[in-house]
Amino acid sequence: MTLLMLSFVYGCNQSSNTSNNGDTNTDATIDKVQPTQSSKTKVVTTFLPMYLFTKAVAGDVADVQILVTPGTDVHEYQATPDNVRAIATANILVKNGLGMEEFLEDTVKNAKNSQLVEIDASKGIKVINDISPVEETKEKKKDHDHDHKHEHADGNPHVWLDPVFAKQQVINIRDGLITADPGNKEVYQANAAAYIQELENLNTEFQQTLNKTPNCTFITFHDAFPYIAQRYNLKQVAVVEIPEDQLSPTDVQKAINAVKKYKVKTLFSESGVDNKLLTSLSQDLKLTLYPLDSLENGETNPQYYFQAMKSNLQNLAAGCK
Ligand SMILES: [Zn+2]
Repeated sequence: MTLLMLSFVYGCNQSSNTSNNGDTNTDATIDKVQPTQSSKTKVVTTFLPMYLFTKAVAGDVADVQILVTPGTDVHEYQATPDNVRAIATANILVKNGLGMEEFLEDTVKNAKNSQLVEIDASKGIKVINDISPVEETKEKKKDHDHDHKHEHADGNPHVWLDPVFAKQQVINIRDGLITADPGNKEVYQANAAAYIQELENLNTEFQQTLNKTPNCTFITFHDAFPYIAQRYNLKQVAVVEIPEDQLSPTDVQKAINAVKKYKVKTLFSESGVDNKLLTSLSQDLKLTLYPLDSLENGETNPQYYFQAMKSNLQNLAAGCK
């Protein structure tokens, strides 16, 4: 409590006009000027899926923030001073883990928040590595080693794209929130239960739709879908690990090689990738190009997960038909 009060006093000594100066932990009785919002537990999440799941569980009883604003690439993300401040004044930090948030370790260190509770949403999830082939040439690896450090040392981190693992992440987030903020236990439980029910329905929908196209092999330009592939008996061949703004001639050649090597049904790309090149590539290969969303970017409404995943399902089904 002493620490909390000190941090409160410190906050006040700064500018009184400074908004969001981090006194979120202050007991409401200490200062009546503080808006009621500031008594809420402050939860900082790393990137979009972690925000969506946490917001779904917390509803309005906690103040949920996001570090990596949608529109920026989480794989290549560099932390900002605002990120450090947000963590410094947070009660809880929710991360995907598995090496996804490479910027985080140093940022947390710099924030020097000894009270911070960290929730690792991927706790207990059995990761996979090298299950789906990644088409990568040695030359390419050497060229990009310095700016593509993202090597999935802890396994492929894109677990949120499997509705079953997403459920596990929601459970981990729920339990972490309850431990850190037991006063709102019932709200967290009820919100999580509703969201989990939707995830279970989504899983059923995926099963029922994709069991019509077993072993469908597809090419992606982002190694983000091995969990969906594993769960629903499909096969992903990733041409590049992380989406690049522009595909190189080498990438194009790799896609052509992969089509020759595997019985590829379709190509998937995300927005932000050079679609002109992909379109002409798909025409050359006589394969249809569909979008597939990794949910690393998008809307911040928790229902966005279901919207994006349902259109992913439609596109997977169309491409695999
Ligand atoms: Zn990714």
